[in-house]
Amino acid sequence: MKIKVYLTCSQCLLLMFAKYMIWFATPDLYVGAGRCRLSKVGAGRRPPPARVRVAVRLRPFVDGTAAAGEPPCVRGLDSCSLEIANWRNHQETLKYQFDAFYGERSSQQDIYAGSVQPILRHLLEGQNASVLAYGPTGAGKTHTMLGSPEQPGVIPRALMDLLQLTREEGGEGRPWALSVTMSYLEIYQEKVLDLLDPASGDLVIREDCRGNILIPGLTQKPITSFADFERHFLPASRNRTVGATRLNQRSSRSHAVLLVKVDQRERLAPFRQREGKLYLIDLAGSEDNRRTGNKGLRLKESGAINSSLFVLGKVVDALNQGLPRVPYRDSKLTRLLQDSLGGSAHSILIANIAPERRFYLDTVSALNFAARSKEVINRPFTNESLQLRVLAPIKLSQKELVGPSEAKRARGPEEEEIGSPEPTAAPASASQKLSPLQKLSSMDPAVLERLLSLDRLLGSQGSQGTHGLNTPRRERMVLMKTMEEKDLEIERLKMKQKELEAKVLAQEAVDPKDKENSSPAVLRPLARRTVTVAKPLKKAVVMPLQLIQEQAASPNAEIHILKKKGRKRKLESLDASEPEEKAEDCWELQISPELLAHGRQKILDLLNEGSARDLRSLQRIGQKKAQLIVGWRELHGPFSQVEDLERVEGISGKQMESFLKANILGLAACHRCDTS
Ligand code: ADP
Ligand code: MG
Repeated sequence: MKIKVYLTCSQCLLLMFAKYMIWFATPDLYVGAGRCRLSKVGAGRRPPPARVRVAVRLRPFVDGTAAAGEPPCVRGLDSCSLEIANWRNHQETLKYQFDAFYGERSSQQDIYAGSVQPILRHLLEGQNASVLAYGPTGAGKTHTMLGSPEQPGVIPRALMDLLQLTREEGGEGRPWALSVTMSYLEIYQEKVLDLLDPASGDLVIREDCRGNILIPGLTQKPITSFADFERHFLPASRNRTVGATRLNQRSSRSHAVLLVKVDQRERLAPFRQREGKLYLIDLAGSEDNRRTGNKGLRLKESGAINSSLFVLGKVVDALNQGLPRVPYRDSKLTRLLQDSLGGSAHSILIANIAPERRFYLDTVSALNFAARSKEVINRPFTNESLQLRVLAPIKLSQKELVGPSEAKRARGPEEEEIGSPEPTAAPASASQKLSPLQKLSSMDPAVLERLLSLDRLLGSQGSQGTHGLNTPRRERMVLMKTMEEKDLEIERLKMKQKELEAKVLAQEAVDPKDKENSSPAVLRPLARRTVTVAKPLKKAVVMPLQLIQEQAASPNAEIHILKKKGRKRKLESLDASEPEEKAEDCWELQISPELLAHGRQKILDLLNEGSARDLRSLQRIGQKKAQLIVGWRELHGPFSQVEDLERVEGISGKQMESFLKANILGLAACHRCDTS
């Protein structure tokens, strides 16, 4: 079972950094890990550039047009260049030069051997390659890519050679074991459809942290022979959407993409793994709706085809101009081709053109697109990493770190099928069969420590851990650990409850009278309590502590609390036994006039006789206001009443009021304290 992990960019960076650190510490063990990109970072090198190669193929006249005496509008000059009439000036021709030009007499073998076969070897180096057939409808794209049983095209020839190559390179006694898989999809009206599983619906295109384009859920069929390939490919090709247009009776209405993956696993240490991808793409043609006679669905299809090819043109232009944003994401086609155009693949574009004059404008536009494409630079790199099975002993060691009992519990009968990402991953029972490197890696504490700390780090970032250590086996271990912790917590709570119950019982035994009061207080569940939520007071009045104590001591207190209900006021005595709910209304203090007069007098005395320091002992009077008061007094003589404070410059009427409120009550209370 293959395990796929999608990491965020920051996690990928972390992973790459950690891989680099491991490689740096143990280069012998980690040869090639992190692919060329990683070694590129380490050595400060970029992969060498590989320009997109462009070949043009001119098909012969079809349907007897040559017999009608129509001259071709385009002709080849040599093996790399051609010329086409200039529609602006009939005396002139437009000349184009490409990597290769194949004339109307060229065979399928010429195209294949001249332009496609040379790039296949890169697949065995773990690099990507792609072949795209471009051109107007009816110009020969499908003929070039697929051909016919009599004249097989690029696809069958490439598959035959590739399978032959992998058999030779991956045979017994060779350092690498090779396997080939195929997937086949079409992009139809901006939907990615799996031609090997037509029921699967629209698939999503993703990009991994190394910039590889992936299609999760896409069927991959292993193929070992050409017969295998045909068995899957021929029925799938019939699923491809085709329709009749005026230009082509079986016009391809979609972009067809055959993806062939070559997977290599090193048989000896350091057990590297390489993956090379080959895209073989038969693009749908760019169509002029006036000529194809498209209506309804055909017109809609045509719009989708044209727009994706239009985006393809924009992508090529952006790459050529070195723009910071390349609009790969603007269409499914360009998103899929992201690693073929300006990416990591060795790419070849075969522009198919037709000689008939009715194709003239489409031919010129195809040639212009081809000319722009040959400026695009790719940077192919080797997709190489360590095989997951090398990490298998480390997983076991991690289990050992958790504890032998847990490791034992975590190991189940079905474990190997669920937990092993590779069929060859070393289970505990097969530990004797470990390769020398596997044994070494299981014993190397430095590597083990680094991998585990990386795993912890990624775990703390919310990831499921490193690729190598992320298995259902580990997840089960984590789950069991969590369950054990929960069990302990439950035990602890049970003990606590027992303790509390024992305490209550002991209390009851000491004072049985208190039973009714105390035990419900302890044991009554919270939910049964009626909770009264008091509304916030509209007006808060600060009551000095002494005053409250005094009130409680004397029932005939001179201070009362006024309860405000709306506009009406009701006088009530302060009573501690007053129900709590009553607190929801406003309360104000009413002070006896005598007490109030004492308070006022005390303030007046202070205002007239107190120093600036004394004045600062009053509420709401700071250094500045105290000095203002003293200054006013020196100028105007003593205050006749506390309200004169308003006359002091810098003290407003409002401030004076709040000063009185804040001070009178306290000073009155002090007066009572003094006199009692
Ligand atoms: P496209 O896929 O570009 O729409 P096709 O590959 O379907 O075009 O080609 C249209 C027609 O032209 C087909 O009948 C095909 O057999 C024929 N044809 C294309 N290229 C050649 C060629 N090089 N030699 C002979 N016939 C060709
Ligand atoms: Mg076609």
